[in-house]
Amino acid sequence: MAVFVDREKCIGCESCVAVCPVGALSMVDGKAMVDGEQCISCGACINECPVEAISREAVVREVKNNEGSDLWVMAELENGEPLGVTYELLGVTAELAKKAGEKCCAVLIAAEAADIPQKLIAAGADKVYVITDSRYAEYNTDLYTDAFCQLAEAYKPNAVLFGATADGRDFAPRVAARLHTGLCADCTALDIETENKIVEWTRPALGGNILATILCDEHRPQMGTVRPKVFKAAAADASRTGEVINFTVKDVKESPVELLHKEAVETSGSIKIEDAEVICSGGRGMGCLDNFKMLEELASLFENGAIAGSRAVVDEGWIGHGQQVGQSGKTVTPKIYFACGISGAIQHISGMNASDIIIAINKDANAPIFKIAQYGIVGDVKEILPKLIAKIKAYKEA
Ligand code: FAD
Repeated sequence: MAVFVDREKCIGCESCVAVCPVGALSMVDGKAMVDGEQCISCGACINECPVEAISREAVVREVKNNEGSDLWVMAELENGEPLGVTYELLGVTAELAKKAGEKCCAVLIAAEAADIPQKLIAAGADKVYVITDSRYAEYNTDLYTDAFCQLAEAYKPNAVLFGATADGRDFAPRVAARLHTGLCADCTALDIETENKIVEWTRPALGGNILATILCDEHRPQMGTVRPKVFKAAAADASRTGEVINFTVKDVKESPVELLHKEAVETSGSIKIEDAEVICSGGRGMGCLDNFKMLEELASLFENGAIAGSRAVVDEGWIGHGQQVGQSGKTVTPKIYFACGISGAIQHISGMNASDIIIAINKDANAPIFKIAQYGIVGDVKEILPKLIAKIKAYKEA
């Protein structure tokens, strides 16, 4: 979006020129004029103009590969089943597609399709592009990139979403580079401008202190990655119907990489924090590793409980990085999130603020975590946690 001055309305007061942080505005013939190369679209001039002569306008420029239409989701599989993030992306993409009058499409690259296209349709896809070959049994950067790019060049999507998983983070940048387009990583919110169908990708920036909305208005497809658990998957609707399009890749190359052996990584604790319904999370205020035993005991009282923590405790070595919640850790959306001795830094909150219920224990009544917690207990975790554990045990035994 660029900033646009309506010269009819402009009264030449120069107030916009004074507030522009990058010197993009100047006076020409007594009226304000924007230098599009300099303008960063911050909107300072829009707020300052006393006669509302300045507005944001979508740039209708010659866009490379501008034939793009429809919003695509790259389906990611694990053990032959779509990952949760695929369903989450289909849910949000279906909403954006409806808003913009586009189709929500899924791309499936696999050894065989089986019933997966139908599952993707039930989750919100209007069309599923299917590419099958035994060589696609496992994710492979080179082969998948070739396949996806041939498909994208044939059908020209407007935008493509990938899960910000290990594979998605490897795959999406390779595709973006091959298609000469941009990529907005780790988005936390998405919207679409309906006239030019420009996706508004929002993500934390500057160390998580601001949320930046990024547009890719000059290249197609627009591309972004979204972390698991940022969006909730829509409920599957088995009665939905959609189109399945089989695509044949020309000249499937042999991969220079051969997968010799695959082994699941052991995670500490049997439940992954991203799958847990109750998370007992500790911060620096837990004091020491030994005190995490209280969190383990609390988590064990719930059927699907797991322990997690802030980056501060990962840095201390009290828990592993796989259990870190936040901007540089994982995004979680449990039913209950216990935040124990966690201050509530923005980088932590961004990873857990979509939890259904947040219960915070902190000895500082002014700790920022209390601003987002539904229930707050001011006190020492070493005193509160044993009492809480005893209460829950008594409730369960009653
Ligand atoms: P502190 O901020 O030290 O807070 C400890 C809290 O415990 C305080 O509120 C204190 O009142 C309370 N307390 C102390 N003793 C007790 C007690 N006995 N009983 C009860 N309460 C007590 N952080 C993350 O968590 N996740 C991330 O992914 C992440 N990514 C980051 C990325 C970047 C680029 C940057 C710059 C920072 C990131 N951080 C992240 C770090 C973040 O800014 C904070 O430093 C961190 O979250 C603080 O952790 P904490 O709340 O455990 O510790």
